[in-house]
Amino acid sequence: MSRCYENRLRLIALLQEKTVPITRHSFISLDTGLEFKFDAYRGDLLGKNLSGNKVMKLTPNLAAYIKEDQSDIPVATFGGSHSNHLRAFGVLARMLRLNAIAFLRESPKGHHKMLEEFLIKRGVKVILLSPEDYKQREDPNFISTLNNSQGRFHLIPEGGTTSESVSYIAKQFSALKGEYSHVFVPVGLGGTLSGIAAGVGNQTKVIGVSAVKSDPSLTERVQSTLQIANVRTPDNWTIDYKFHFGGFGKTNTSLDEFTTAFEAQTNIELYRTYTAKSAYAMAEYFRLEKIDSALWINTYNPA
Ligand SMILES: *Cc1c(COP(=O)(O)O)cnc(C)c1O
Repeated sequence: MSRCYENRLRLIALLQEKTVPITRHSFISLDTGLEFKFDAYRGDLLGKNLSGNKVMKLTPNLAAYIKEDQSDIPVATFGGSHSNHLRAFGVLARMLRLNAIAFLRESPKGHHKMLEEFLIKRGVKVILLSPEDYKQREDPNFISTLNNSQGRFHLIPEGGTTSESVSYIAKQFSALKGEYSHVFVPVGLGGTLSGIAAGVGNQTKVIGVSAVKSDPSLTERVQSTLQIANVRTPDNWTIDYKFHFGGFGKTNTSLDEFTTAFEAQTNIELYRTYTAKSAYAMAEYFRLEKIDSALWINTYNPA
């Protein structure tokens, strides 16, 4: 076994050993005057570009890649022009000196250029895909054509949701089994939600807050993710589609006002795309339901 191989695994283990702080907060709603208390799981404090749920999802996948393929073939993944997943992938590729490929969705307006440069600087080979091609990223035939042009590679799916990452997140969260009546987590593709739901156990209700306009296929996606990960399918979770505020990346005055108040009162910076929406949702749940104890997941806060 080469030293390089061992060093890479050791570095991954070190990254995984970083403890995620849990901080306690209270918030008073400007509209209702209602106060509630919650704990925040501070994935955002893990680092700058390499942070939050992206560390939790990418490190188990890269460990699997390094073990299985011993890095003989490149490791590849997909992402759009604002992908936090690709950003974290780039940092890890550099840190671990990986032979890495990023399939980046090309934006007709050039929005991908910053991320492209970020990745190239870190030694990642960037292959731009047209928006039409990018839509086929889960189609095995399309992957074959990519293999024809790029050679063999170890593929990590967009968002990094695999049985490895779901099992890893489940293991992390099993330490919090029975601690909270409710967990609030933002949802993109649902990998983080899957792992948390599997980890915290059936005493806790896990509420996923979709950052994307109603896409009921997400629910099926989470179900099949849990099956693939071979974790006993928990029925302690739901996805709430009511808090997308117009769609992915969209916001409105009510979300903006809430964000300003929340940031001022808690000293936690929110990220409009994901965590602002899940924080807003949590406040609504406190208004409408009896919540004994809440853990709010801060998945990531890009610099
Ligand atoms: C990527 C990302 C998510 C989505 O995670 P999934 O596991 O795909 O649901 C949530 N929040 C933030 C801040 C992210 O960057």
